[in-house]
Amino acid sequence: MTQTVHTAATAASSATFTSLTCKECGETYDLGAKHVCEDVCFGPLEVTYDYEAIRRQVTRESIQAGPNSIWRYRAFLPVETETPIDVGTGMTPLLKANRLARRLGLKSLYIKNDAVNMPTLSFKDRVVSVALTRARELGFTTVSCASTGNLANSTAAIAAHAGLDCCVFIPADLEAGKVLGTLIYDPTVMAVQGNYDQVNRLCSEVANTHGWGFVNINLRPYYSEGSKTLGFEVAEQLGWQLPDHIVAPLASGSLFGKIYKGFNEFVKVGLVEEKAVRFSGAQAEGCSPIAQAFKEGRDFITPVKPNTIAKSIAIGNPADGVYALEIARKTNGNIEAVTDAEVVEGMKLLAETEGIFTETAGGTTIAVLKKLAEAGKINPDETTVAYITGNGLKTQEAVQGYIGEPHTIEPKLDSFERAWERAQTLERLEWQQTLV
Ligand SMILES: *Cc1c(COP(=O)(O)O)cnc(C)c1O
Ligand SMILES: [Zn+2]
Repeated sequence: MTQTVHTAATAASSATFTSLTCKECGETYDLGAKHVCEDVCFGPLEVTYDYEAIRRQVTRESIQAGPNSIWRYRAFLPVETETPIDVGTGMTPLLKANRLARRLGLKSLYIKNDAVNMPTLSFKDRVVSVALTRARELGFTTVSCASTGNLANSTAAIAAHAGLDCCVFIPADLEAGKVLGTLIYDPTVMAVQGNYDQVNRLCSEVANTHGWGFVNINLRPYYSEGSKTLGFEVAEQLGWQLPDHIVAPLASGSLFGKIYKGFNEFVKVGLVEEKAVRFSGAQAEGCSPIAQAFKEGRDFITPVKPNTIAKSIAIGNPADGVYALEIARKTNGNIEAVTDAEVVEGMKLLAETEGIFTETAGGTTIAVLKKLAEAGKINPDETTVAYITGNGLKTQEAVQGYIGEPHTIEPKLDSFERAWERAQTLERLEWQQTLV
């Protein structure tokens, strides 16, 4: 482990992050590649900031004059450099979803569409852009991750752009699109015969022996801060206001907590007015340790063995699960789980009503949104934002057999006319079936 570690205080006077602090006991550490409170309680470390310094640096106008990417919020992110790795990550569309809203009996629904995030079509580009910028500052030359799929895509792509060496670890049974979407960037890929939790354990050992920068292990405090931008962007895109209710998927529970932190930071520095935002979380039944704890009123998580098509959120032992539970409870939100069949229905519903093809994680979010709306757990008048975190082209296996097929025809008008007739008859039959 030969990387040089220097601190924010000595490097750049405009840096606003001050230390790593243990979320459990409050012990502070210097700003190196560390993620657990090794001197006291083994709790997770989180980046802390000087909010007075941020308040002096930013205004709504200065943010709007910044780059059209997550780096317009650089003052809130744990990097020193003036030239972060900017591959156009962030500032994805916030879409008013009127047709989906009508179907669900809601009046003010928005989709935050990270299915089109850059460069690899998932929200993970946010956390990796921040983690690799910090990795470079800390002197790492090889970066790595323990991934459920999207993180490997993102780490490999952004490492390629930044000229960093890359070795990623994935479970061996991932969807073809996720594996190919990593290999194309030519990293070393380790396909581990085991589930994500086993991959993660292995990576913790490799991090200790190889001195690599693992974005979601030893760089986790920096990495996870990238998810705050999902909160910042929604607030800015709503015209510098917070929504009433958000629905987001839960894997480790990290992104959920960071949206919450992002909203609170904007309030703290005076960019938006304070508001009680309700936080609801989505899991797939085949891997729903946080939803189970919520339902049973427990304040601890019992790990499970994942078995669901929603592979990108299949974490059986979620590192930030208890914090997600706490946030859902104190904000008067909910955490729900849906079956794999409902996940597929959710993917189709979003595609048919809004023209957005999301992956299984997004299907989970939409299915839970629907369940909450039908149960009256979302007030129709609430301004609600559903976070779509990944792209459906990467999980094509999930909908195979549940969608239509093309009509193969000869290049002749009468062949088309016959096929068109058949297609319309089919559509009428399907319509009649939905009525019975
Ligand atoms: C990783 C991932 C998540 C969940 O992230 P956590 O921060 O671990 O909860 C959600 N959606 C997609 C598509 C992901 O890849
Ligand atoms: Zn501690």
